[in-house]
Amino acid sequence: MPYYLAIIFIVAFGLVIGSFLNVCIYRLPREGLSIVQPRSLCPRCRQAISWYDNIPLFSFLLLRGRCRVCQTAISWRYPLVELITSFLLVTAAYIIFNRFDGVIETRAIVSFIIYLYLLSALIVATFIDFAFRIIPDEITLSGIGLGLVLSLIFPWWHEPAVITTNLPWLNSGVSSLAGLLGGAGAIYLVGLIGKLIFKKEAMGFGDVKLMAFLGAFLGWPHILFVFLLGCIFGSFFGIISWLITKDRYIAFGPFLALGAVVIMFFRNEVYYFVFTTYPDLMRDILMVQSWPDLISSFRFI
Ligand SMILES: [Zn+2]
Repeated sequence: MPYYLAIIFIVAFGLVIGSFLNVCIYRLPREGLSIVQPRSLCPRCRQAISWYDNIPLFSFLLLRGRCRVCQTAISWRYPLVELITSFLLVTAAYIIFNRFDGVIETRAIVSFIIYLYLLSALIVATFIDFAFRIIPDEITLSGIGLGLVLSLIFPWWHEPAVITTNLPWLNSGVSSLAGLLGGAGAIYLVGLIGKLIFKKEAMGFGDVKLMAFLGAFLGWPHILFVFLLGCIFGSFFGIISWLITKDRYIAFGPFLALGAVVIMFFRNEVYYFVFTTYPDLMRDILMVQSWPDLISSFRFI
């Protein structure tokens, strides 16, 4: 199959998945709504939306963002979620294709399916958290179980593992469990310190469950970098949002999700920056040959 056909296929597939994620974002936080039934309705006039008005992205453009029956504006969230999903899936396919040197083997296909699942879960969690400031247990608790089970079925997922015995499933399972506990523990601890300092709830338990879920999938020590990036993105956006709206509370889940996407796609680049580029830069600024030199220079002061 030529490359451009594969790309067009994944773009279209991403738009369809995005359309389903829109349904999840609307129905999951509203009690008692199933994500598979009934057909989509216009929230204003309750008219069922016919298939030709429900084509991802294109129907929104053709209808110029309004319901065909009552002309109520359709939320810009619908095409946005479809575009984001499509973009992330094409990026995931490209990165995984390169990671396996262009060989479409079982591990590459399993990796893509796991990325599809994780990205979908993170998109749904992000938009629900922005709107409702909750992260549904349907996403996080089921994800924790799934992450642990998959680590036992696909031991190569967590390579290099945190322990090396001659039982691959055990190495991988321990990596997943360590990620789960380390991720949840890190955010719980920071929340606890925040509570002691600011005398009020600094972090929701939904975020702790989200970190446990991400930790079970991404493993130790990657989950720590997810948390670090989430804190950097969150405080950057938090300061800007506080200056504009004077609202001191922001949803933290979306920034943890963004951190997770960065680590899923660019972990090697991030680690190279943290452990090589940044120390080299600081060494040049401080004008020392190597870090041991700096430490010994302090000894003579
Ligand atoms: Zn309508």
